[in-house]
Amino acid sequence: MQATFGDIVKAIDLERLTMSKNQKVIVGILSEKIVISKTHFVQDVGGIHCFEGKCCEDLGLPTVRYGLSIVKYVSDGNLSILNDDLEFLLLAIGSKEYKGLITKDQILKTQNSGITRKDFLVTCVDETYQNKQYDVLGDARWRKILSKELFQEKMAYFLANAEKVFGRVVTAEDYIRLMDQVASEAPVTDRTTIDNARKALPQTKPQAKPLPAPKGAVKSAPTSAPTSAPTSAPVSAPVSAPVSAPVSAPVSAPVPAEAEDVQPEAEVITDDFEDMLD
Ligand SMILES: [Zn+2]
Repeated sequence: MQATFGDIVKAIDLERLTMSKNQKVIVGILSEKIVISKTHFVQDVGGIHCFEGKCCEDLGLPTVRYGLSIVKYVSDGNLSILNDDLEFLLLAIGSKEYKGLITKDQILKTQNSGITRKDFLVTCVDETYQNKQYDVLGDARWRKILSKELFQEKMAYFLANAEKVFGRVVTAEDYIRLMDQVASEAPVTDRTTIDNARKALPQTKPQAKPLPAPKGAVKSAPTSAPTSAPTSAPVSAPVSAPVSAPVSAPVSAPVPAEAEDVQPEAEVITDDFEDMLD
């Protein structure tokens, strides 16, 4: 593909809705067809989808996320939609927000409406964890803007690609190769090998849901370590280190296994759109 310097292309034409604290946007939820993902966070790699095996042994329980297909309107930062432009996005939420939206949907259905028939004012209440609050605003404006053809096209694209937004899909073999690769790309000294092993552990997941207990203590390990190693032994250390330190150490780092009650694969729910846009 030819291009001009400055052109930027995205691998997937689907992004998450990300907001800054107290920002307000107006969105419509396009469908009750959603994507559920279970992912692990791996340092230097990002998210990988759980395959219910060694990943859980090494990294602990996966994070569950629900992906909804939404449109974001151009709004005035408060309650008003300014025009008919629509931005198609993925709303990625955890179990708590998902359950809150289910309750809203149940209430709306008692009024012969539903979650896909209303627009919502979304307010970001926590930027780090992207926690949001949802208020029903009015009837879904996108239903008057979007053609059935474009709707179907956008939903098909969403269902086919949303999983990738959450992370890399890997087999057990892919995973082992990936972890070996991460280990071998790191400078091979005893010090950093240990650091990488530590990074691979679940405690450093930045995208995980808010943990109840520790706050300051968790972050200190990865950031503080690198400063001490390089200065101490400039010349002599590299000679001895590469041979003795096994590159694959991070993979085998022992982690308490809790794989038993984990359920498998990220599932993509698909069917036709018969019930939509009626
Ligand atoms: Zn797993």
